[in-house]
Amino acid sequence: MFGRKIHLFTIFGFDVGIDFTWILLAVLITWSLAKGLFPVWFANYSTATYWWMGVAGAIGLFLSIVFHEFWHSIVARHYGLPMKGITLFVFGGVAEMEEEPQNAKTELLMAIAGPLSSIVLGIIFLAVYALGATARWPEPVGGVVFYLGWLNLVLAVFNLLPAFPLDGGRVLRSILWFAKGDLRWATRIASAIGSGVGIFLIVLGLLSFIGGSFITGIWYFLIGMFIRGAALMSYRQVLIRNALSGETIAHFMQTNPVTVPPSASIRELVDDYIYKYHYKMFPVAADGVLEGCITSTEVKNIPREQWGSLRVQDVLVPCSVNTTISPDTDAMKALALMNKTGRSRLMVVEGDQLVGVITLKDMLKFLNLKIDLEET
Ligand SMILES: [Zn+2]
Repeated sequence: MFGRKIHLFTIFGFDVGIDFTWILLAVLITWSLAKGLFPVWFANYSTATYWWMGVAGAIGLFLSIVFHEFWHSIVARHYGLPMKGITLFVFGGVAEMEEEPQNAKTELLMAIAGPLSSIVLGIIFLAVYALGATARWPEPVGGVVFYLGWLNLVLAVFNLLPAFPLDGGRVLRSILWFAKGDLRWATRIASAIGSGVGIFLIVLGLLSFIGGSFITGIWYFLIGMFIRGAALMSYRQVLIRNALSGETIAHFMQTNPVTVPPSASIRELVDDYIYKYHYKMFPVAADGVLEGCITSTEVKNIPREQWGSLRVQDVLVPCSVNTTISPDTDAMKALALMNKTGRSRLMVVEGDQLVGVITLKDMLKFLNLKIDLEET
């Protein structure tokens, strides 16, 4: 969502990873705990103790969020939604869905599963803390457990804010969706409320900051920015889904794509195709039959002095499932494939025949037009 993802581990088939932004936040969380919260809650320990408590608290926070997202994912998978994995960033995680839930009931159950699991986990931590207190555990250990108990309850309450795409906003959206049967309308209302809550938190953060509560202010501000951004983006995604649903790529593709003959030399490929059309990948075809793909990466690996003697057919690679697509494919699927592979051009193939090329630019043009004409 924001960029590079680091894979950590796999649990029950779900890939758990963190976004790069989470590393910064882990530092900020540890610092907030070691310098802010723990010294206030439990006085008179050494600086080193507070730092250990901070690190333990940050790891506990991480695992608590994974637990929360894990239950979203379990329910989603139960209802047949393919799940990619769990990625943590900013204040929380995202259970990465490839598709939206098919109906309001599925969305409601998926959305509520996370906060419920956090409430249960929070109560378990608080119970363990009570047991530890009677067993006279060292106060810093009990302190971290106590913190994690409250943290999970706060996590549940925060996620239940009716601000789409937070869980509470999803609950709200599913109710609106159920009531009127219109997903787009439900999303618009829910994300407008989400955006409003985001702005409220941003203002609250700025006021706290001016008032001298720096750490609280920064948190409110960051969370507000996150909620607002996510609300706007989620609505956009629904618009895109709506605009593209039912459209096949045959609709957008260019039917006379530029193809490179297998007999062309590398020199000709570079001068007459790559430098002329500025694409990174070209289909290689003879009489409409797709023989393979050639990309600038292959060309880069060939020593210059061989450009004149080597032919495209000597170095072409077979087109893969990542570079080809059939004309009756759903446009959303094509967009997802481009997103996944980072390629903005795909070869449209029927059997062994190259029938066209589909580009991200053409799809976006269509999207803008359709949203402009129909969705506002
Ligand atoms: Zn959640």
